[in-house]
Amino acid sequence: MNPKKIVTVIGARPQFIKASAVSAVLAESDQLREIVVHTGQHFDTNMSDVFFSELGMMPPAYQCGIHGGTHGDMTGRMLIDIEKILFHEKPDAVLVYGDTNSTLAASLAAIKLHIPIAHVEAGLRSFNMRSPEEVNRILTDRVSRWLFTPNHVAGVHLLDEGASPGRIHQVGDVMLDVALRHGARVTPDGGVLARLRDKHGVRAGEYCLATIHRAENTDDPVRVTTIVDALTHFARDIQIVMPLHPRTRTTLAEQGKLQALQDAVVLLDPLGYLAMVQLEKHAAIIATDSGGVQKEAFFYRVPCVTLRNETEWTELVDAGWNRLAPPVDATSVLQSLRAGLGSIGDDIAPYGSGDAAVRIVQRLSNELA
Ligand code: UDP
Repeated sequence: MNPKKIVTVIGARPQFIKASAVSAVLAESDQLREIVVHTGQHFDTNMSDVFFSELGMMPPAYQCGIHGGTHGDMTGRMLIDIEKILFHEKPDAVLVYGDTNSTLAASLAAIKLHIPIAHVEAGLRSFNMRSPEEVNRILTDRVSRWLFTPNHVAGVHLLDEGASPGRIHQVGDVMLDVALRHGARVTPDGGVLARLRDKHGVRAGEYCLATIHRAENTDDPVRVTTIVDALTHFARDIQIVMPLHPRTRTTLAEQGKLQALQDAVVLLDPLGYLAMVQLEKHAAIIATDSGGVQKEAFFYRVPCVTLRNETEWTELVDAGWNRLAPPVDATSVLQSLRAGLGSIGDDIAPYGSGDAAVRIVQRLSNELA
């Protein structure tokens, strides 16, 4: 029997990480064959290649090389390219991840060609339609045949929106799969932590790891100023290490904030997955606006402060692992950072047991093969 063909479309850093879990299981399957399309949304060594090599992924079969431009421009160019690939490959299903423009472009291309879509990380909601991620995920969920949810609450959101229960499959979070498979072996020895200790005196368990990349923060001068003020004050209490997303570096420089931050905080280029995990695991606290980093903080039981008005991962706030600190007032952000230090939350397990990828591939095999 010929294996059924799955076209996976990915393009951004968190998608490479999530897809690595499912691609590893698909590679073992006799019933399904995967063709990977890389849209190019994130493209250089730090933001793309390192994840393929570290996480043992095959190079993509297609590289669209599309990045930059407005949302409409980027999504439109991706749609054109992905449609051509789908015409050519004629897959039995299209597999997409998360909430980026690559996710939406692939979903639009597939649904118009009547190709069933599997959405991994379905059902997450921030209830903020000004956020591009929220628009991308809601539209993708609406047209997907398989809604693979990471947790209970995502399924509740989908049911509330009228999705039929038969489309919803709570498989757990593929990021937990990756954390258990790759992150678990990361130790405090060597690597970026050793370099930071030698160069800046950074010690395991005694620093704050910070990341900022969301447009709602980086594109808003008031929020940028608030975050920089809060972090520079917090840096008097504890050393701060901050790998900078390329967009964040650009907007900080444009807004004249890069130097102030650089004077107070250890700034780094974007890190590979294993280096990032090493810094996450051994941080005293994590301050972030990243969805994935919020969860990884919990996987490694490190307290987290989320620099946003809302979060999709509400169970972590409810359980006390995460606190929301909207970056509108530096004093209250600073208070949240100080309160977070040393705090721990309840013992919860909302994201399954690390077999989400196996369950996704089983479901697709059962229904396609
Ligand atoms: N990450 C990384 N290097 C970095 C920053 C983040 O490998 O310098 C990883 C992080 O460990 C997590 C993922 O990227 O697995 C999160 O991606 P990102 O913050 O870009 O997006 P989001 O999760 O907000 O969609």
